[in-house]
Amino acid sequence: MKITCVGGGPAGLYTAVLLRLADPAHEVTVVERNPAGVTHGWGVVFWQELLEALRAGDPTTAEQIADAAFAWSGQDVDVEGSGRVSRPSGGYGIGRRHLLDILAERARGLGVRLAFEHEVGPGARPDADLVVAADGAGSAFRRAGDFGASVEVGANQYVWLGTTRVVDPFLFAFVRSPAGWLWCHAYGYDEGHSTFIVECPPATWRGLGLDRLDAAASLALLERLFARHLDGHPLISPGGDPDAPLPWLAFRTVHCARWSDGDVVLVGDAAHTTHFAIGSGTTLALEDAIALVRALGEEPDTAAALARYERERRAALAPRRRDAAHSARWLEDVERYIDLDLPVFEAVLHRRRSAIVPRVPPRLYVRARAVAERHGIARVLWDQAAVARRLLAGRDGA
Ligand SMILES: Cc1cc2nc3c(=O)[nH]c(=O)nc-3n(C[C@H](O)[C@H](O)[C@H](O)COP(=O)(O)OP(=O)(O)OC[C@H]3O[C@@H](n4cnc5c(N)ncnc54)[C@H](O)[C@@H]3O)c2cc1C
Repeated sequence: MKITCVGGGPAGLYTAVLLRLADPAHEVTVVERNPAGVTHGWGVVFWQELLEALRAGDPTTAEQIADAAFAWSGQDVDVEGSGRVSRPSGGYGIGRRHLLDILAERARGLGVRLAFEHEVGPGARPDADLVVAADGAGSAFRRAGDFGASVEVGANQYVWLGTTRVVDPFLFAFVRSPAGWLWCHAYGYDEGHSTFIVECPPATWRGLGLDRLDAAASLALLERLFARHLDGHPLISPGGDPDAPLPWLAFRTVHCARWSDGDVVLVGDAAHTTHFAIGSGTTLALEDAIALVRALGEEPDTAAALARYERERRAALAPRRRDAAHSARWLEDVERYIDLDLPVFEAVLHRRRSAIVPRVPPRLYVRARAVAERHGIARVLWDQAAVARRLLAGRDGA
């Protein structure tokens, strides 16, 4: 088969790797509009389960990613004026650039043709039996095709920054500004860098002038506000024009009624996005690649393979998309929780994926969980909550 993956992000590159491993007779091309080694964003988090899935897909890539990963341990929640609470947990971070270098090298080694600085669109469709549209959240192929797509825009503003401060444990730090609260999601991803995402409600964003200030003034302001957490280290912008504003965005959740249209199939963010508050978009993109290539190898024809890919992935994604939606909503509703005692605030932040949390008084929720856990009936309550969650999710159409 002749297959073109449009987009050299995790989804496009890993699909190409797996296609060549599955059948070296496949002619596979990856087309990427950026130069090699250039990408947006900083590091991403992932968990052990991803490494296991990757080991099953391609042990070579999995080992390289495991070697490059930065392991962080624990999660801290810091609220200005209230203090800090720590919770044991653990995960990994990896720089996006490093991840893409690993995947691109592996793809090249397996005979994939990589065409960087090359932009293709639906108007100049690649000559291929199958086009894998891995062109990200703003996918031009999705917009041009019959995918029944819609995009939900979140209320908060965020900007994806980096810092040279190695943040370990993972940190949620909430700071109070004259215009309202803002917070970071920060974690180390190598020995010298961390991701530092700053998020806030639109009123805080406008009130601080972050919608108007140029990049240098915005970074200086954010460095002052988060000084206690940066320990003298700078915040780093994604680059570009220092006179332009920082690339603040509202998160866009992509929904599609169909993931294929003829011989074009969507993978990764092109098909679905999940809010960064659950740190899973890259994992889901890589899992899409695994499912798509498996289906292509095992089904009698492409149409059956694409149908199976979509069926399997929709089922696997549903709970994580729900978790992401609830997490995003929780963060849009921080004002409801921020004045709680710190242990209660931390507990409901930790439970932000729950559909129940926004619907009951937070203190009652935390007390009920604590009592249930003490009396060993957590399982029963948890099962009841899962049923309620499903009912509420159905009612919300989530
Ligand atoms: C702030 C933030 C934090 C995040 N943190 C995490 C995290 O911690 N963990 C996690 O798992 N995920 C995280 N994500 C999500 C993750 O970045 C995405 O889900 C993931 O990158 C999706 O991979 P992809 O390959 O589908 O798309 P992308 O990585 O967006 O790749 C798409 C590629 O297609 C190229 N392209 C687009 N159009 C064309 C065209 N017409 N022709 C050629 N090339 C084209 C683009 O240049 C790009 O390289 C985060 C996202 C955000 C916004």
